[in-house]
Amino acid sequence: MSKRYADIVLPLAQPAYCFSIPECVEVQLGDAVAVQFGVRNVYTGIVWRLHNEPPQVKRIKSIGRKLYDVPLLGAEQMRYWEWLAEYYMCTLGEVMRMALPSLIKPKGGDEVEFAKCEFSPRTEAYVALSKQWSRADVLAECERMRRRAPRRAEVLEQIVNFEGSGLNSYGEIPRRLLDCDAAQINTLRKAGYIEVNERERWSERADEIVFNLPALSPAQQRVAEEISSSQHIGRAVHLLHGVTGSGKTEIYMHFIAQTLAKGQDVLMLVPEIALTGQLIDRLQTVFGSRVTAYHSKLTALRRTESYLRLARSRGGELVVGARSALFLPLNHLGLVVVDEEHDQSYKQSDTAPRYQGRDCAVVLASLYGARVLLGSATPSLESYANAQWGKYGYSRLEERYGASKSPKIIISDTMRSVKRGERKSHFNIQLLNAMRDALGRGEQVMLFQNRRGFTPFVQCSGCGWTMRCPHCNVTLTMHRVSNRMECHYCGHVADVPRFCPQCETADLKPMGFGTERVEEAVKELFEVARVARLDRDTSTSESAYNRIVRSFEEGQTDVLVGTQMITKGFDFSRVAVVGILNADNLICSPDFRASERAFQLMTQVAGRAGRRENEGVVVIQTSEVEHPVLQWVVAGNYDAMARSELAERHAFNYPPYSRLIQFTLRCDDVQLLRRGSTWFAERLREKFGNRIFGPVSPPVDRIRGVYIMRLMLKIENGRSMSRARELVREALSLVVAHQEYKPINISIDVDAQ
Ligand code: ADP
Ligand code: ZN
Ligand code: ZN
Repeated sequence: MSKRYADIVLPLAQPAYCFSIPECVEVQLGDAVAVQFGVRNVYTGIVWRLHNEPPQVKRIKSIGRKLYDVPLLGAEQMRYWEWLAEYYMCTLGEVMRMALPSLIKPKGGDEVEFAKCEFSPRTEAYVALSKQWSRADVLAECERMRRRAPRRAEVLEQIVNFEGSGLNSYGEIPRRLLDCDAAQINTLRKAGYIEVNERERWSERADEIVFNLPALSPAQQRVAEEISSSQHIGRAVHLLHGVTGSGKTEIYMHFIAQTLAKGQDVLMLVPEIALTGQLIDRLQTVFGSRVTAYHSKLTALRRTESYLRLARSRGGELVVGARSALFLPLNHLGLVVVDEEHDQSYKQSDTAPRYQGRDCAVVLASLYGARVLLGSATPSLESYANAQWGKYGYSRLEERYGASKSPKIIISDTMRSVKRGERKSHFNIQLLNAMRDALGRGEQVMLFQNRRGFTPFVQCSGCGWTMRCPHCNVTLTMHRVSNRMECHYCGHVADVPRFCPQCETADLKPMGFGTERVEEAVKELFEVARVARLDRDTSTSESAYNRIVRSFEEGQTDVLVGTQMITKGFDFSRVAVVGILNADNLICSPDFRASERAFQLMTQVAGRAGRRENEGVVVIQTSEVEHPVLQWVVAGNYDAMARSELAERHAFNYPPYSRLIQFTLRCDDVQLLRRGSTWFAERLREKFGNRIFGPVSPPVDRIRGVYIMRLMLKIENGRSMSRARELVREALSLVVAHQEYKPINISIDVDAQ
């Protein structure tokens, strides 16, 4: 018997609500439906549970119509959402809000408005022979027509003899593939020879299974065998630890091809900014039309089309995407690849659910019984520890592919350079010489500075005044190109000051340097060099980004200055020199992950040098020459870094030996916030004792006029996380119930980074 009630998840921070199901509507789990909720809002909801238990309310609303011809979520995806909501401590509605592309879940003040926002697929005309005509009849007809109307006969013949892969599921031919005009089609239709239907655009996908795979080198072959055999003994997750340029992508391709050939889907995750034309091109050469790219720069329409297409797919899909691709309906998932698995961009920190994409990939795969391949030149200590503990399979690839050599890394002492008068603007003599040599040979240079803008602040030489953001507790960054001061937290802009407002001195000094200033210095020092800059300011769109990258790739730019953006996904063969302009701000940070991060970042940046034949040089400028991280980077000694860092983490009970839950409290009344934070910390301490740290003010403790305090909960391994979450929920409900602390907003970040 069919069920009479449905629990519906709505895109709100609320629990699922019960609706009745009208006779005329037939729904199944995972379906999207239109429902009226609140005084007058129509939402898209997801059918989460079907049952016969009437709810305890007087008037129960019934669901409206069903929205798509397929469920938006399969059973495994529903379990996955439930896990996300439970583990990351948010509601299913919040998961829904983030997981589904905006156009797929319209919302409106009423039915009419809702309908207006509804996704309407792009359609096109499809042509087929009329049913009453047989092929032989039509061919005979063509013969007869040839005299009278030769062009029309030709078109008809084209339709009868059409061969190709473009047919839709009805066996019809897309009109755009025919060589003819609308008038001719119309005449044939009127004469009754053919039918023309307007239908949703069918993106054809050839089902080729013979992929043009690159042959693996002996070292790559050995690793591929290790991965296969570790899968045979039942280890679902494998960590591939291979230096940059070792050809990890080729090994992924090998397993991707195996999975696709079985008719299963593959999800390949890469950091957002590594999703460049370069990678997509490489995958398309091998996997052709199977490749679907999915990331936040695509239009909402494209994302929705991809989502629905995949929901209807019968398997054999290859999706390459940023972390948001973890929510696509890949109902036949067989393999998840997480490239650059150590990358911080896999963690979503700003809105709930604050999930870690790499961890989600492992959970998602386990729900489908799929395999996971994690790859990195500098694995996260979490994954590395899992490999050491035998939870993950582990393979090492130490050599670069082909003739390409590892770069030579030089530590350049900035203090010493200054003392000896060997520093010009931001460059020590070693870097200057290396750049001069490389540019002289017609080779390229990459310069890394992890700050955008001209200078991070300007300071009055008279009284020390600096210009600060009126809304945030930070200095304003000076931007020379746009000629203004800008807040990197809230976007506030102001004119560049000419006088100090405190002492009216006109001598305001730009302090420190960002990418703009480096770019300017290179132009002054090397007049003939063609310089480009890659950071958030210059790559405002995908095409702007691609233009800069392509021009460097094609050798039209000699020097590329950039932030983190230049560290990923590039494979440039002419880069001879990489300069890290100031390593101090990478290694001297109070974060317990600072050393790990600095090692990863510098090793990744260094990996851009001298791919292919020419040996590259990497110059790291610093005043902390003795810092152990730098020694490990120079020696390329990941193991030493891991050993030392893990020992430290173990001693202080940091991840991977514990898990962290971070609470961020926000309020525009700073006194109230302080009182509330202390009170909340006390409630938590009653439950967790000395596992609670704080409250403390973060380095930037006011953003957009709102004050911020933080608390940290550390749960050592072996303790139940679900019990911890339960206790956290209890403490939270106490603050929520506390009248005075109502205005304080608390957000929770599980496994904060
Ligand atoms: P990684 O991802 O490990 O940094 P890549 O996969 O980008 O390394 O490989 C580095 C370069 O070597 C690329 O240009 C790639 O095309 C080439 N390469 C690696 N392995 C092979 C192979 N088996 N056959 C042909 N080219 C390869
Ligand atoms: Zn002053
Ligand atoms: Zn601001």
